Formats: sequence, structure tokens, C-alpha cells
Amino acid sequence: MPQSTRTFVIVGASLAGAKAAETLRTEGFDGRVVLIGDEARRPYERPPLSKEYLRAEKDFDAAAVHPADFYDDNGIELRTATLATAIDPAGRSVTLAAGEQIAYDALLLATGSAPRRLPVPGGGLPGVLYLRSVEDADALRHAIGPSAQLVVIGAGWIGAEVAASARQLGASVAMVELAAVPLERVLGPEVGAVYRDLHAAHGVDLHLGAGVEAIVGSEAVDAVRLSDGTVLPATAVVVGVGVTPRVELADAAGLTVDNGIVVDEHLRTSAPGVYAAGDVANAFHPRYGARIRLEHWSAALNQGPAAARAMLGGDVVYDRTPYFFSDQYDLGMEYRGWAPGFEQVVFRGDPAGREFLCFWLRQGRVAAAMNANIWDAGDALEALVRADRPVDPVLLADPDVDLAGLAGPPGP
Ligand SMILES: Cc1cc2nc3c(=O)[nH]c(=O)nc-3n(C[C@H](O)[C@H](O)[C@H](O)COP(=O)(O)OP(=O)(O)OC[C@H]3O[C@@H](n4cnc5c(N)ncnc54)[C@H](O)[C@@H]3O)c2cc1C
Repeated sequence: MPQSTRTFVIVGASLAGAKAAETLRTEGFDGRVVLIGDEARRPYERPPLSKEYLRAEKDFDAAAVHPADFYDDNGIELRTATLATAIDPAGRSVTLAAGEQIAYDALLLATGSAPRRLPVPGGGLPGVLYLRSVEDADALRHAIGPSAQLVVIGAGWIGAEVAASARQLGASVAMVELAAVPLERVLGPEVGAVYRDLHAAHGVDLHLGAGVEAIVGSEAVDAVRLSDGTVLPATAVVVGVGVTPRVELADAAGLTVDNGIVVDEHLRTSAPGVYAAGDVANAFHPRYGARIRLEHWSAALNQGPAAARAMLGGDVVYDRTPYFFSDQYDLGMEYRGWAPGFEQVVFRGDPAGREFLCFWLRQGRVAAAMNANIWDAGDALEALVRADRPVDPVLLADPDVDLAGLAGPPGP
């Protein structure tokens, strides 16, 4: 059989990009696959960076997407420490920092996202840390030994998980958040309160509804000053105030960009032959009739392969239920669905005992569901979210009522 002469280029060598490259091979593509990443290491997963890797319970190999020899073995040209500086959708080429140009037949942009910077005085002092890469995690690990006083700015997922890991390592931790409870933006006040109590119970000094006025220090960080005048002593500060999608290449090339690279349900951008996946993709979701940009592990894991199949000409529609997970202390959770503008939260089980299910209802339907320290409910929760039918909140809350029955008969 003649070898294909086509070249598929993937920019962004992390989870979405690496899974796309793998899928091209498992789907039988025998042309050239070039996987370009600006990080020095082979692709790895980031969730351990705030959890087991940060606490030195897992090493880099355990976080890597593939074994070291996978790329050579599969004829994937992995170009690490290589920044792509431009794409030319009309001429179908990618330019690298050293000037090299690579012509492509199809291109996947899996450039991910980067931490949003905190624009306050002192924000650039040594000891003010962000967490995205393995190198960031190594620096943070060094900064959070038992004698450390860590101030975490932002009680979103990264901040909350770092606070938990730092406490587990014996550091003193203060957490500062503008909202009234941790994780409020996604989980809302009721479930956010569960996390507030969890961190308080583990000795985190919580400053909620509080803004940061300045980070203080001469040579390095000494303290964080809040808007109400409170001064929190700090040997290190970690900032977790969200991420921004890395759209530079797409933007400069004139692709449609709006809170990420805009793609349709086939993960196609506005330029022919160019696709996007993972954190950077603001993808039309046919079940919601809306574009959603997901900053979750599972979206990178699944959109990468979906984009690869689309690049190969497959009839791909990406319509998976959004999913993410988080581990803090001994509380593990999974969340399924998408619930902006929910109207009601229903608990089943014991939030105070941290073993419960909960449901976010919109128009009387389960828009999203979460299992906390309960590990056999995932399929039932997925079915409830997918069913998108009215449910009685009293039955949802009743542990004696079968959840599968509430979802109704399986769809076609
Ligand atoms: C500390 C941490 C903990 C997390 N924990 C969880 C969790 O518990 N659960 C969960 O669901 N999600 C979690 N996430 C989110 C999850 O890791 C991300 O959603 C996922 O990494 C996105 O993968 P991606 O491949 O789309 O992008 P990224 O992982 O951001 O990778 C993009 C890659 O592209 C590279 N790149 C960008 N531009 C260029 C260019 N021009 N040239 C070359 N290379 C380029 C970047 O350097 C990077 O290596 C966590 C994230 C972090 C940082």
C-alpha cells in the first residue's frame, strides 16, 4: 500500500495534542504527524500538579500522557521546546521560532491556556507563584514545606487544591477570595459552603469576600495586604485567578476568536483544514445549542481524538457531557453537566459528612450533578443529565428512590 504523503501538524504538545497524535495513528493515518510544543518535556497531564505530584507522591512519568518511547515508536515527530510563531491558513504552513516552515494538509491548534496574572503592586516579586507547568509545580513544592506561610489568592479549583496539598505538607495556609465561598462561580453558594467548611476544618485561614490590594516585600514577598487593611504574612504566594486561552496564533492569522478559538461541533475553526481542541477551543455544543469553552482534563482527553478523526474526514460531532473532577484532602468529587443560571440545588446524602450527591436544577431539569465521595453513581448521574426531563426535587433528594428510574427509559 502506498504511504500517504499528507502531513498533519498539531501545535500544542499536551493532553489534547498528544491524544490527537495517538488517534491519528490508531485510526490508521500513515502520513507525517508533527507534534509541536514549547515545553521542554514530553506531553503530560496537569491534574497531578496540584495534587499527587505537588506532594511528591507521584513522579513525572506517572503524569506523562505516554511512555517516553511512544512517539518514536509510532512515527510521531515530537518537537519539544519549540514555539510555533505563526500559522498561514491560506498557504497551509506553520512557522517555528527558528524560522523553519512546515507545510500541512490539516492543522490542529491545541495551545491550551495560561494563568491570568494578578495586576496588583508587588505582583512581580520573587515568591509570587503561578501553577501551570511541571516547573511551576517544582517551584511551588520547594516553597511549601512545613515552615512555610502560604497565601493562596483565589479559591477556584487550582487555589483550593493547592491549599489542600500545602496543608497536607504541613504549611500554614491563608486563602483569599473575592466571592463569599470557594468555587462559587461554578458550584454556587450552597456547595461552595461545603468546601469553605472543609478548608476551615483543615486549618486554612479563610478570607472570603476579600480583595488583594498589594503584595508586599523588598527582595521577595513578605506579606499580602488586603483591601480591608488586613496584612497576611507570607513566605510564598500562589495566584490562582483563572486562565486565558492561548489564542495568539489563531488571532494573528485572522481565525474567528471569541473567548478561545471558535469551532463548530466538528471542532473546525473558521479556516479550512484548521481544527482546535481542549482548553483553547470554544466549541459549539449541539445539546446545549451554545458554545462552551471547557477548561477540563476530560475535554482535552476527548476533544483531541475527536479532532483527529475530523481531520481524517470522519463525521465527528463532539457532544459529550462536560465532566471534571477535583480532589481536596479526603474529599473527591466528579461533576457532570453544565449549569449556568441554575435555579435550585438539591442534596441527597450528607454534605456535612462529605458523602453526598447533589443536583443543579434549571427549569426543573437536572442541568448538572455531582458525586462527592460516592463512586458508584456516575452512570446514573450521566443519564439524569442527558435525559433533560423534568424531575421532582423531593424524589431526587430521597436516598430510597432509584436515580435510574428518574432518568426515564434510555434514549434511542
Ligand atoms: C495544576 C492544574 C490542575 C488541574 N486539575 C484538574 C482537575 O483536577 N480536573 C480537571 O478536570 N482539570 C484539571 N486541570 C485542567 C486540565 O489540566 C486542562 O484542562 C488541560 O491541561 C488542558 O489540556 P490542553 O491540551 O487543552 O492544554 P494545555 O494543557 O494548556 O497544553 C497546551 C500546550 O500547548 C503549548 N503551546 C501553546 N502555544 C504554543 C505555541 N505557539 N507553540 C508551541 N506550543 C504551544 C503549551 O505550552 C502547552 O504545553 C488542571 C490544570 C492545572 C494547571
